[in-house]
Amino acid sequence: MTATSQEIIQSSQWHHLSIQEVTRHLDTNLETGLTSAVAAKKRERFGANELKSKPGTSPLLRFLLQFNQPLLYILLIAGAIKAFLGQWVNAGVIWGVTLINAIIGFVQESKAESAIAALASSVKTNATIIRNGQKMQVPSTELVPGDVVLLASGDKVPADLRLVQARNLQVNESALTGESIAIEKNIQLLDIDTPLAERTNMAYAGSFVTFGTGKGIVVAIGDATETGRISQLIEQGTSLKTPLTRKFDKFSRTLLYIILGIAALMFAVGLGYGYSWVEMFEAAIAFAVSAIPEGLPAVVTVTLAIGVSRMARRHAIVRKLPAVETLGSATVICSDKTGTLTENQMTVQAIYAGDQNYTVTGVGYVPQGKILLNEKPVNWDNSSALQECIKAGLLCNDSHLEKKNGQWQVVGDPTEGALIVVANKVGITRSSLEEEMPRLDVIPFESEFQYMATLHETSSFASDKKQGTIYVKGSVEAILKRCQQMLDVEGNLIPLDAETIHQEVDAMAHQGLRVLAFAKKTVPDVETLCTTSLQHADIENDLIFLGLQGMIDPPRKEAIKAVQACQEAGIQVKMITGDHAVTAQAIARSMGFNKNGEVLAFTGSQLAQMGKSELATAIEDGVVFARVAPEQKLRIVEALQSRGEVVAMTGDGVNDAPALKQADIGIAMGGAGTEVAKEASDMILTDDNFASIEAAVEEGRTVYRNLLKAIAFILPVNGGESMTILISVLLARELPILSLQVLWLNMVNSITMTVPLAFEPKSERVMQKPPRNPSEPLLSPSLLQRILAISIFNWILIFGVFEWIQQTTGNINLARTMAIQALVAGRIFYLLSISQLGSAVIASIRGIRHRINDTSAIVIGIACTVILQIIFSQWNLMNSLFSTAPLNLNQWLICLLIGLPMVIVSALVNRFDPLD
Ligand code: ADP
Ligand code: MG
Repeated sequence: MTATSQEIIQSSQWHHLSIQEVTRHLDTNLETGLTSAVAAKKRERFGANELKSKPGTSPLLRFLLQFNQPLLYILLIAGAIKAFLGQWVNAGVIWGVTLINAIIGFVQESKAESAIAALASSVKTNATIIRNGQKMQVPSTELVPGDVVLLASGDKVPADLRLVQARNLQVNESALTGESIAIEKNIQLLDIDTPLAERTNMAYAGSFVTFGTGKGIVVAIGDATETGRISQLIEQGTSLKTPLTRKFDKFSRTLLYIILGIAALMFAVGLGYGYSWVEMFEAAIAFAVSAIPEGLPAVVTVTLAIGVSRMARRHAIVRKLPAVETLGSATVICSDKTGTLTENQMTVQAIYAGDQNYTVTGVGYVPQGKILLNEKPVNWDNSSALQECIKAGLLCNDSHLEKKNGQWQVVGDPTEGALIVVANKVGITRSSLEEEMPRLDVIPFESEFQYMATLHETSSFASDKKQGTIYVKGSVEAILKRCQQMLDVEGNLIPLDAETIHQEVDAMAHQGLRVLAFAKKTVPDVETLCTTSLQHADIENDLIFLGLQGMIDPPRKEAIKAVQACQEAGIQVKMITGDHAVTAQAIARSMGFNKNGEVLAFTGSQLAQMGKSELATAIEDGVVFARVAPEQKLRIVEALQSRGEVVAMTGDGVNDAPALKQADIGIAMGGAGTEVAKEASDMILTDDNFASIEAAVEEGRTVYRNLLKAIAFILPVNGGESMTILISVLLARELPILSLQVLWLNMVNSITMTVPLAFEPKSERVMQKPPRNPSEPLLSPSLLQRILAISIFNWILIFGVFEWIQQTTGNINLARTMAIQALVAGRIFYLLSISQLGSAVIASIRGIRHRINDTSAIVIGIACTVILQIIFSQWNLMNSLFSTAPLNLNQWLICLLIGLPMVIVSALVNRFDPLD
């Protein structure tokens, strides 16, 4: 590269250079792009096209933030006061525990954060470029300056581009300029001092194409792009906060005030009883520490993080953590049809042209098969209408077939792939046809318009004018209203018989076929077109109808099962599609969609004519919504939400973004989805499959259930401990449990025993229950009752064992140690009873067959607990730190036996309020 071009790149005046100058500076070719060799060299020189991630919050600060919790303030102050009282060992242990707690929290949070961030960035952005003269898709990180990029609506602009072609191109640059309205782009040369926001011949990295198509040359990549320069402003942070964790935060804050109040009261009462200041201080701290569920925040983070990774394994990438929870309470899933519920493997099976019905043999994209008329091979030369219909499908087409690993595949739209395959079956190929009739221009397919059109040059002998033919394909509605005439079998023009055509469409649609209509128009003089290029206005009317092609798109087998599973789980499934109502309904029926046994279908235009309340009812009762314009998806989501539904909605197009944002869970397709849709979504499906949504719901429900289990497990210990301390003070007895021992129980013991609950596998019943009510409080009445019942049992355990051993042996340390060990024994039994391991054991005792899922986490958790408890009482260092006493074998057995009745208590509670 010359010195001058270097200067130009630095001063970023690309908008001021002519296209020729730009191509010359970047040493590229507009038609053929770069060669692989040049691209590789440039790649080496300029590096990857990505923004260097900038450091987030510093690790030190994040570590210090771990101490920013009310509980930890109490502990730190308690430690300080103990130190002030000269109890240095006590103070050291308290501080040590807070430090360990902060370390655990820090490690866990960092791990969860980086896992989520890694998942989100594992979804790659692709760019369509021209290299070696060929159109290809590459990860956008591989772009180099000089690459020729093709833009289509829905794309994220992959690098800074100087535009060389723009067709109705509109780009949303809000990420860069803050301007939320899309800007119309063109290729005109601009003044050198044109401000960034007005450089209409440039497309900048990070903005989105909202409409039209374009072509541009990469002029800057990575950190050299305009976005790269300001990227300090764009925070890529992943937050670990969800509605649930916020509920937890609020819960623990309220709890804190209550605890502090009671502790103060206790302190005053105790002093009145004649306790010493120091004794009461110990009691108040023990009470405060005992009542707060210290282990809970760690468990919540771990559970959510595990949910995220389990979903990823099942092809659902969570972009926003709250989706993990919301999924579990979804009541309606609105899903796209094509590609999500169906395979998106199109094969043309029926053709109607020149008032004849043809059938097509062969499956998939293998170009082998025949076109039959009345079950006999068709006489090709005598079927002009058929010929034209098939030609239209081949020419008005932006996709192509490729043989990869011995398999034929479509590059582009499968609908178009199917049209190429039929043409190939009768021996017509695109290249030979396009040689005869080169393409001059195209209006690409957009769901909004439901058609695509191409303009071709046709040689004319009669005049020296450039004659052209426009081929159009699209939905029957979009095409027929533009036609006045049609072709008969021999290719003569006759008046359009719309009624017969509609009957034919209906017949095809009833079999679940996707129907496309074809038409053409001859242009005697291309120069007479609106603007020598093709415009929508050019095909407003006077088209000649050529025929119909009906293609099958088989339902995905897993999706059929998943739809059923959702409906059994009380989740409504609705199909939303741009396809024909009858086709959609036929497919919905074959997949088992229904609401109260019916498969009601509405079209977008029916919905558009409805009043507000009528619309809400239709949307609630309907199962299939066909010919729905993308904007209507938003109204569907809103109508469902106004009925109190929790809505999951899929989408892949640019115009789906508002609906995806509005939905409680916006789901984008990782494969077929546009970047705009992905950006707006909460979750991305890597396999575009409906079954993955169902899997994610399952995992979401499991996460919530595991969190409830963790709460139901942790809180009763806090309850039992705080009751013990409170009642002992009120009864003027010795404390059965000291503050340091409480800390041990609530942190060390609770975490080792509760984290395994986060790993609990999904229960077989998880999809047999209706969705959870999202407004249901965290602590439902039945959960509160359970916590109270187990708390009381725990209190009896601690208080009873302590009093008994103290009175019989007079050894207060031994009494406290045995009380704690009995409590932990009870905890182990309780943990078993609420875990799947426990239910498997019970089932096998009863002789019921039960599939045992992976329960190793629980086993490891219990093993660690036992080892830690042995250390806690048998090691003399622990004896002096925690005032414990070693137990003999008999005493161990006694503790175990005393904990055993927990089995009965929890069995009773489980019957009343099953957590599974
Ligand atoms: P969906 O993805 O829900 O099946 P689309 O919006 O893709 O719906 O398609 C709506 C209708 O537009 C289809 O029923 C078909 O008639 C027509 N159509 C689909 N793809 C194309 C295309 N590539 N070119 C022209 N028309 C198309
Ligand atoms: Mg589609």
